[in-house]
Amino acid sequence: MPKEMNTDQANLDQHLKMQAEQQQIKQNMKHIKHKILVLSGKGGVGKSSIAVNLAVWLSMQGKKVGLLDVDIHGPSVPKLLNLEDRKLQAGGDKIAPIEYSDTLKVISVGFILNNENDALIWRGPMKHNVIKQFVCDVSWGQLDYLIVDCPPGTGDEPLSIVQLLEDPDGAVIVTTPQQLAVTDVRKCVTFCGKLNLPILGIVENMSGFVCPNCNHKTNIFGGDGGKQLADEFETPFLGSIPIDSNMVGSADTGKPFINFNNQSPTAQALNHAFEPLLRSNENNIINNKEQDKMKIAIPLTNGKLSQHFGHCEQFAILDVDLGSKSITNQESLTPPAHEPGVLPKWLADLNVNIIIAGGMGQRAQQLFNQNRIDVVVGAPSEQPEKLVLAYINDTLVAGENICDH
Ligand code: ADP
Repeated sequence: MPKEMNTDQANLDQHLKMQAEQQQIKQNMKHIKHKILVLSGKGGVGKSSIAVNLAVWLSMQGKKVGLLDVDIHGPSVPKLLNLEDRKLQAGGDKIAPIEYSDTLKVISVGFILNNENDALIWRGPMKHNVIKQFVCDVSWGQLDYLIVDCPPGTGDEPLSIVQLLEDPDGAVIVTTPQQLAVTDVRKCVTFCGKLNLPILGIVENMSGFVCPNCNHKTNIFGGDGGKQLADEFETPFLGSIPIDSNMVGSADTGKPFINFNNQSPTAQALNHAFEPLLRSNENNIINNKEQDKMKIAIPLTNGKLSQHFGHCEQFAILDVDLGSKSITNQESLTPPAHEPGVLPKWLADLNVNIIIAGGMGQRAQQLFNQNRIDVVVGAPSEQPEKLVLAYINDTLVAGENICDH
């Protein structure tokens, strides 16, 4: 076989593999309302402590929460939650997360390592694959929040996770008040900017000291450095968390600080910092996506899905409620004349989030994606209700994309 044909085939295989993976990620992430990454420029600033306390606090507010610890070289979440003896079980083709409580599911690299040093010998692609599996293959189910404890720094591993997560809400940056932290925060801010990842806010940890006897707080570093830093970078400032010896004790015993010390000034500072991530009024700093509701479009010919997207007579537009997994409204609309770019815009104006199609060319798919519409291809010629119910119940079997023009 000529060399170019081999390369073409390899490129095509690679492209199809990536497309299938992307589809799988979308499928697995579609019932997660909000995804928040916790980042820091360097290790040891309390990033994992903040991630764990945020996840526990959200679950204490009645939210369904997932905590994903991809801090490959220092997975501390199992220790912080006293889950160190737990190992992951595979059930079918999915990985079941560890249930810390009814409302908090946890996955950590720590659950798959035999000893702490195992991950040190992992090479880049292996790390990426582990992170990908945690996003693709974990049965997270319906979640209000997925909190991701990222590896420190702004290297390949945090990059992998940002790229793999579909449309995260943004990042919380954790820092400490030392001089050096300015450089670290700058790195994180640049990293988020390059990836179009919104910054939800900066948390200044280990700022000031709370006396274990009288609860009095002393500002060791003085002033409002964290706030000034956030102002400088034009990002929200979530708050300062004092050094508290009970926080170290909590980490050692695996009892989440916020759960067991909720009257202390440090717990109050954490409450105050986390509040804006939950609030659902117009001041909410996270996008209040109505992901319980979804609008799905299906191209139709003779009342069934049209395999030839470019020639369909009508579109079925179905409103679905993901909570009750039901169709709440259905109508058929005649599309405008088919010209490149017209349909994506028309469907975006109708607030459609997903299009289920038989065959569709790459270019058309890109145009839909640019209009924030996800595309499912390779669906069979069935009635729209049947396809939508299969889609929301994760039983839609998509075959080949037969019409690539
Ligand atoms: P990172 O994830 O940034 O490496 P960790 O969350 O593992 O950092 O925290 C490092 C150490 O600092 C842990 O022993 C933790 O208990 C401690 N720590 C974190 N925040 C505080 C705080 N506000 N007061 C006291 N100790 C803290």
